[in-house]
Amino acid sequence: MRSPLIFDCHLDLSLNGLEFNRDLRLPVHELRRREEGMTGKGIGCGTTAFPEMRQGRVGICVATQLAGCMKGARPIANWMSPHQAWAQTQGQLSWYKAMEEEGVMRQILTLHDLNAAIDLWNSDEPDEDKPICYILSLEGADSIRTVGHLERAWEQGLRAMGPAHYGICRYALGHDMVGPLSAAGKELVTEMDRLGMILDVTHLSDGCFWDALKIFNGPVWASHSNCRALVPDPRQFDDDQLKAIIERGGVIGAALDAWMMIPGWIRGKTLPQDVGLKLEVICDHIDHVCQLAGNALHSGIGTDLDGGYGTEQTPADLDTIADLARIPAMLEKRGYKEDDINNIMSGNYLRFLRESWAKMGL
Ligand SMILES: [Zn+2]
Repeated sequence: MRSPLIFDCHLDLSLNGLEFNRDLRLPVHELRRREEGMTGKGIGCGTTAFPEMRQGRVGICVATQLAGCMKGARPIANWMSPHQAWAQTQGQLSWYKAMEEEGVMRQILTLHDLNAAIDLWNSDEPDEDKPICYILSLEGADSIRTVGHLERAWEQGLRAMGPAHYGICRYALGHDMVGPLSAAGKELVTEMDRLGMILDVTHLSDGCFWDALKIFNGPVWASHSNCRALVPDPRQFDDDQLKAIIERGGVIGAALDAWMMIPGWIRGKTLPQDVGLKLEVICDHIDHVCQLAGNALHSGIGTDLDGGYGTEQTPADLDTIADLARIPAMLEKRGYKEDDINNIMSGNYLRFLRESWAKMGL
């Protein structure tokens, strides 16, 4: 039997295409070979490229633009000014368009596009010939130069956004900070609501999370967030936050960034093989969300693979993104039924999008 379609709600594909200088049309092992002898975090140990996405049937994903000018944060995609950050995201958009012209990606803008992407990936055509269908999202809103620029981004196809990343962002505080949503942040979130943009609550500080939910009436998801009950760090959501997302009809994407999977991980020091971190651990986070919800309708996959790191910060038994196809069997072993598994692997996010976009007539 063919493995289920996988929807990955968070992949920094353009970051890899441009900042890591990877031609994602090539297989992962070829990309690693080309980076031999080079140094830097995540270099030479990537896990994600289009051939392996197709092989694992990760046919539909949320792909990001990413350029911050956060204060007090790690220097990742961090620019000195909003106009530099905006220019960077425009370059990233241009990369996605180039991939579309090459026929290897296809952007999903509307409900019609979404249904076409699902039909394509359910069709009997060979998977290796199919484009990766993507929904554009922005991780951290710093590059949105003014609230007025958000409509321009919407017209470019931006359909989801997380206002914060790390540290003090221009509109909201990252998860590593403490404090409420600023006036600028409230204005931004209100404009997202008006446009029909999905609010990605991942990376928001606790205060910003609750403030944003209070004023935002549209669709809410957490693209790549694990459970604080299992990994006690503010990067993960506590049970009250997870329940609030569930009550809003949202979906929480379980991530494969090692330090978010198990407690006590020290980035840059702990190695997956030292602590025996296995892919199976993602099922603990999936199961926690399902237990809180009382069903399997609010859990999904948002791997964040190659989000500025590689195999040194992912489960030891994961070689490439194609290994996601092993998750269904792990869930089955835990007693999950076929329908539940299909929902977790893609159905929940697809239903969320269909319902949200049908409601707004997109
Ligand atoms: Zn992230």
